[in-house]
Amino acid sequence: MLRASRLLHGALLTGAVLLALSLQANAQIYSRVDLEAEAVRLRNAVFRIYSIGIKPSLTEEEVRAASDFEFSFPFPTPDDPLMDSAATTDGRTMIMPVMSLKALEDLATAYAWLQVNNYNHSAIDLYFTMLRYRDRADFPDGRFPRLLEALGVPPDAYKTDKRVDELSLSLRNEAFAFIIAHELAHIIYRHKPINAISAEQARADEREADAFALDIMLRTNTPPLGAFLFFQAQIYNLLHPVEFGNTQEEKASVLLQMTHPLSLDRVREMIEFVEGPFARARPEETEIWSGIGSDMRQILPLMEDKDLAACVIKLAREASPDSLKPRRTVETEAMLKICRQNQ
Ligand SMILES: [Zn+2]
Repeated sequence: MLRASRLLHGALLTGAVLLALSLQANAQIYSRVDLEAEAVRLRNAVFRIYSIGIKPSLTEEEVRAASDFEFSFPFPTPDDPLMDSAATTDGRTMIMPVMSLKALEDLATAYAWLQVNNYNHSAIDLYFTMLRYRDRADFPDGRFPRLLEALGVPPDAYKTDKRVDELSLSLRNEAFAFIIAHELAHIIYRHKPINAISAEQARADEREADAFALDIMLRTNTPPLGAFLFFQAQIYNLLHPVEFGNTQEEKASVLLQMTHPLSLDRVREMIEFVEGPFARARPEETEIWSGIGSDMRQILPLMEDKDLAACVIKLAREASPDSLKPRRTVETEAMLKICRQNQ
């Protein structure tokens, strides 16, 4: 998955060079020392989620099909992107890069902290877009900041506020569970490596893996909100449809190389699943799940809004890194409004 996504970035229509540069630098957002300090804890979380959360919900047949895989938790090489996909598999090994797990955990913490303190979440989108469009020299000390640092989230946010702790932990675990289940599907269905199949087949496999992951969420009664957050961040971390170019040929050439469905399409399918099978599966909880589905659906127009995406990109190119700080969130919102009115 990582390799394929790099291909996708290489196929960008504009700003391809900039993108490649910023992706190369992404690995340096987390130092090796920092990641080593977190690795055991993150690895144990993955083991627990798989063995206690997911495995008991598998059918005998699925357990058999997945019996010979093992986890691997590599440290990043200098050109690893930050979080374009959180994991990958080679059929026998489920590869979960420590940096992706850490980045995902930080995303959950950032979201929870902003949510609990009533700040707007748009700073997260702006951060991921800045990573793609800006040079590290634009940031303090000439290096890309970590998400929590850039957004001004206190380093001990989860220790000092129980609500942040609980929300961030459940979002993180939901995201980890979805990603493990998605990769497990590739193993169980014996999907071929993406370099051996067409991009179209790769996208079909990805959709099948997402469907399996959602079904596991349903079997384990886990809301896919953490995964929703992950895809939401990916909409800006990867390629927003607004960057596809305007002509049919440009769009077709992107599609020809894309091995993953658009994050937006994955989000749409997730919402439909929550509103449909989730809500139907437990009649006594239908109202809860319909409510979660409609909350997710409310965010969709914002994700789809091309003017808004163009505006975020404009801001990401021009705004000071300070505009990511929560005290300026109102200002960022005002800028977004101005941006939208001008278009
Ligand atoms: Zn996949």
